[in-house]
Amino acid sequence: MGRTFFVGGNWKCNGTSEEVKKIVATLNDAQVPPQEVVEVVVSPPFIFLPLVKSTLRPDFHVAAQNCWVKKGGAFTGEVSAEMLVNLGIPWVILGHSERRQLLGESNEFVGDKTAYALSQGLKVIACVGETLEQREAGATMEVVAAQTKAIAERISNWADVVIAYEPVWAIGTGKVATPAQAQEVHFELRKWLHANTSPEVAATTRIIYGGSVNGGNCKVLAAQPDVDGFLVGGASLKPEFIDIIKSAEVKKCA
Ligand code: PEP
Repeated sequence: MGRTFFVGGNWKCNGTSEEVKKIVATLNDAQVPPQEVVEVVVSPPFIFLPLVKSTLRPDFHVAAQNCWVKKGGAFTGEVSAEMLVNLGIPWVILGHSERRQLLGESNEFVGDKTAYALSQGLKVIACVGETLEQREAGATMEVVAAQTKAIAERISNWADVVIAYEPVWAIGTGKVATPAQAQEVHFELRKWLHANTSPEVAATTRIIYGGSVNGGNCKVLAAQPDVDGFLVGGASLKPEFIDIIKSAEVKKCA
């Protein structure tokens, strides 16, 4: 069975309730390919999760942008995996570079979070990616492999994991990876999974690209054989997100 194209929208720390309602209305009105062709997951800030979940069309799903590393309790300001499950939130984004860089989340911490979230029944969009300095030093695969290894060492079932390759230098910068750059890392990541997990995990795990994806560049990126979809930041707040969802059609012609 092929890998269903996956498009995630990371709304980050943006939006008022009025703006959120407008985005949801745009999504609800959109004509997009069916779920067998593209899986769509949007990730509003925690505070808007119930609003989005209760108003979003049923064929689109919702993700939190983070969750705590273990069972809830005396962890002020955190939201636990159990709480997300309790609210019926199926997905969580973990290891986003903004959290790795600004909040010091280590590879091990992200691996622990991934294992705990999966153990509670959440599906995980696990983000990996190198900085510009690391790319220029020729360390891209070393960095991405170390981030993936910290996850692989802690989980045995990859069925509910999507890997988001998001080069840090491409996030929010307008400097998108070229299709060849994205394909190269996705191919190497799949090879890494083949060697370090199993051929089946390598063949079935979706590896999506993130970093300045927009309505104009999505089709050529989607056409790359190892690009299984996108994690979209800025453009997920705009109507062009619909065009990005529709880029899944490119796979049908591949
Ligand atoms: C992201 O934050 O995951 C992201 C890919 O952002 P942008 O699309 O704005 O680069």
